[in-house]
Amino acid sequence: MFEFAEPLNRLIEELRRIPGIGAKTAQRIAFHILGLPAEEGDRLAEAIRDAKRSVFYCSRCNNITHVDPCALCVDPSRGDDVLCVVEEPFNIASIERTGVYHGRYHVLLGALSPLKGRGPDELRLGKLVKRIEAGAFKEIIIATNPTVEGEATALYLVRVLKDFGVRITRLAVGLPVGSDLDFADQVTIKKALEGRTELKD
Ligand SMILES: [Zn+2]
Repeated sequence: MFEFAEPLNRLIEELRRIPGIGAKTAQRIAFHILGLPAEEGDRLAEAIRDAKRSVFYCSRCNNITHVDPCALCVDPSRGDDVLCVVEEPFNIASIERTGVYHGRYHVLLGALSPLKGRGPDELRLGKLVKRIEAGAFKEIIIATNPTVEGEATALYLVRVLKDFGVRITRLAVGLPVGSDLDFADQVTIKKALEGRTELKD
């Protein structure tokens, strides 16, 4: 059976571990890297090493950062009255790209998932509860994913946070913009109906 040179094989195997990268893509990326000038290859390797070594989770919000607390936690232009709770650090980027949210964040670093052995204890909500107890938050926006796990996590959060006297909201889920009702599945239409908003003139 044909096999690539051992160092190339190793590179392909490492790339294949990345979620979403299959055997063919891993091969293509590996050959691309091999074709790079030496200094570009070194830059890529350094970028990976530096990112791994110098970033960590923010002690306040669990965002990925290289300073503690992270930039979002200390930004004086952001409001301290709203807290948006997301599952993963990269979810922050999706919300930030909209440019409409200017409050603080909290990253759960996961969601409830009995199948993956993540129950309420593994969610470690202590840090979040402390922030809500100490903070001036008037509203908590639960922005967990609209998946079974994300929904279960949202319901659990509501139960844990209901006695703190803060308003708890959930991101609306529904129809994709620019799409047609015909193409939406039942669950999406049901969620869209439940999350309908009033139209005002
Ligand atoms: Zn932070």
